[in-house]
Amino acid sequence: KLSVRLTKVANYVPEGARMADIGSDHAYLPCYLAKNLKISFAIAGEVAQGPFQSAEKNVLAEGLSDKIVVRMGDGLEVIQPGEVDCITIAGMGGALISSILDSGRDKLDSVKRLVLQPNISAISIRTWLLANNWELIAEEIIEEDSKIYEILVAEKGDPAKPYMEKKEEGLLLGPFLLKQKNETFKKKWTLEKKNWQRIYQALEGASETAETIEKRKELLDKIRQVGEVLNSEE
Ligand code: SAM
Repeated sequence: KLSVRLTKVANYVPEGARMADIGSDHAYLPCYLAKNLKISFAIAGEVAQGPFQSAEKNVLAEGLSDKIVVRMGDGLEVIQPGEVDCITIAGMGGALISSILDSGRDKLDSVKRLVLQPNISAISIRTWLLANNWELIAEEIIEEDSKIYEILVAEKGDPAKPYMEKKEEGLLLGPFLLKQKNETFKKKWTLEKKNWQRIYQALEGASETAETIEKRKELLDKIRQVGEVLNSEE
């Protein structure tokens, strides 16, 4: 059975998509989508030998070799220009996901939708999308096995549209998640805030250098910003 996390990602893959799942590991996501007849074609990309072999084995065992090709390579280099209209990248840090998209920018011409699931640092992805003409169109935040995950969906459009109000908060917390402010969101940012406060206090004991002063100011800003969002009742 597919995890709740990957099921949420799967829900955002359009019907009939030709997709690439980058960093596919066991290829669970494309296999699930192909079995449910939701996609017409998938590339499962992997940069590491073990996960690549596990993907190949699963695709074969599920009898899905006519729909899913498993390719070894770094990021979007497994895609030929024009081959796919949707890309999923899940289960990595936001900085890595952004750098994969950035290095493969020439492969994005035919792509209509990105479905991205960072484990940390969703802000890196939002910042990259904003700078590269991808409009964030939906977000989700979920908890599974005591871990909190965010899912970001983007299409080509007006990248600034989601950030008309509260840009800084939007980039950090997610413009859609910020509006919705559900219990999982509150839990995540309450924990983050506690963590920043802990680091801030530890830095109070450290010697004052330009660096620690800057770091403390940064932390204080974030603590204040997130505190305001968590405390406001709208
Ligand atoms: N996408 C699956 C999921 O969400 O369950 C697997 C996530 S797994 C934690 C991350 C996978 O990404 C690993 O199998 C790793 O080998 C692969 N990976 C990391 N960097 C990559 C890159 N630059 N190109 C392709 N795959 C990469």
